[in-house]
Amino acid sequence: MRKMDNGPALPTAVGKLTAVEPQRQRFLTVRIIVTTFHSTRSTTDSLTSKQAIRLGLADDGGLFVSDQLGETKVSIDDLAGMSYQAIAQRVLGALLPDFTEEELAQCIAEAYGEQWADEKITPVKPLGDDYVMELFNGPTSAFKDVALQILPRFMARTAPADGDDNEKIMIVTATSGDTGKAALAGFADAAGTGITVFYPEGKVSQVQELQMTTQAGSNVNVCAVKGNFDDAQSAVKRIFGDKKLAARLAKDSHVVLSSANSINVGRLVPQVVYYFSAYAQLLEQQVINVGDEVEFVVPTGNFGDILAGYYAKLLGLPVKHLVVASDKNNVLFDFLTTGTYNRQRPFFQTISPSMDILVSSNLERMLYYMSDKDARLISMLMNDLKQWGAYEIPSGMLAKIRQIFGTGWADENQVREMIADCWNKNHYVIDPHTACGYFVMQQMPRDPLTPRVLLATASPYKFPRVVNESLGLDATGTDFACMDVLAEATGTTAPAALRGLENADVRFDNVVEVDGMEDFVEHAAKTL
Ligand SMILES: *Cc1c(COP(=O)(O)O)cnc(C)c1O
Repeated sequence: MRKMDNGPALPTAVGKLTAVEPQRQRFLTVRIIVTTFHSTRSTTDSLTSKQAIRLGLADDGGLFVSDQLGETKVSIDDLAGMSYQAIAQRVLGALLPDFTEEELAQCIAEAYGEQWADEKITPVKPLGDDYVMELFNGPTSAFKDVALQILPRFMARTAPADGDDNEKIMIVTATSGDTGKAALAGFADAAGTGITVFYPEGKVSQVQELQMTTQAGSNVNVCAVKGNFDDAQSAVKRIFGDKKLAARLAKDSHVVLSSANSINVGRLVPQVVYYFSAYAQLLEQQVINVGDEVEFVVPTGNFGDILAGYYAKLLGLPVKHLVVASDKNNVLFDFLTTGTYNRQRPFFQTISPSMDILVSSNLERMLYYMSDKDARLISMLMNDLKQWGAYEIPSGMLAKIRQIFGTGWADENQVREMIADCWNKNHYVIDPHTACGYFVMQQMPRDPLTPRVLLATASPYKFPRVVNESLGLDATGTDFACMDVLAEATGTTAPAALRGLENADVRFDNVVEVDGMEDFVEHAAKTL
């Protein structure tokens, strides 16, 4: 029941437009529908997207959603040959209508510029009879750059909720490896913000750890946690829900906490863009005609990447199926095949660490839409999850979900085999996360009429040791020696930012218990 008082309350229907001032009225008339956000667990909030982005997570622990999603479709007739930036302008305009066109244009130009190694940003390439969309050409070589290059620009264009002009935002993030670096890169030295990243000690690769601990910037904090990713993510959620801490931070440091995890609306919606971009590129390559359906296979952890594909479908993109590919932590596979989500199971630390997740946060948003926006049901299910570690959805809802979402998973041996298989068959090197998707794609019957796009979520150079082992190459040296061997053997090049880590200065060596995370945040806030 948050009451925000920055800016006028927005009318929720076109019929009320006469009540607003002319400037706003023109703006609203163009967009027609006013989008407001509330929690997946209650409908009392009525926030603009800017407010939702600034807050990150709803007070009741739910995720922000908009009931207007899909009411305005995004036109696909003229996508062929359109630039990534132009597509982003169109898609983000539909999803974040309280940003002006000019604000969005600035955010897009800053986020999708020279820091990308490919001018298409997320290029689509043939892979045998299928296609692969590379999401890893950004500054940290993982797909999270797509969202985290733009999220700080969005945040910079939001205003403090209570009129405290000195207010600063502290981003607090738990990472299973890739989010942390991408968030650090996005927020480093961004005005009015600070960032604190927690990662599970000893559970990320050498390259991933160095990427984070060498991060430059006066507003960044990096800390290892004694626990796994779920422990760290749960603790971050508790920190966000701690009202006493929030009051102390506001009073002592003028700081509000926000999230850069994929639970933030501003993290999720930029990912919708590349599904449209994939479609545009397939049109341009004359693989499809306007209106033809496409299938996406998505290596999945927190369900953010694939949820963006579902949003794209709701916005009118002809998506036939979205296939959830998991690693050995196959909680989503079990859920999508049985209707029961059960987090009470062993946690496996695998060679695809960014998918080692037992609680897939963004699933809650999909369930909200699939339950016909039944916030009460979602609230009950999430309560069950908290209390019993499990929940079960109605069978009708499961049937509906399964019409769109396929699923599969790969164990670690299969991941290694697939890295070799993909190289042998296609002369294309994939990382262990992408390999989960590649495996699942090989298992599915192929409909020759529906092109399949595998989302490649990380550069193989982020995980050079596993890749070398899988390809039968020397993997006895450091990660950097492995990179050189991989480059030599495959004729590919390591991204310069990754190769350069070998000589970068380590700035952070903090380690805390899960219980110590809150203190760490409070201390970091004081230094902002
Ligand atoms: C984060 C990540 C994933 C999983 O994405 P979700 O949005 O959490 O489902 C897959 N692969 C890589 C390399 C990642 O960094």
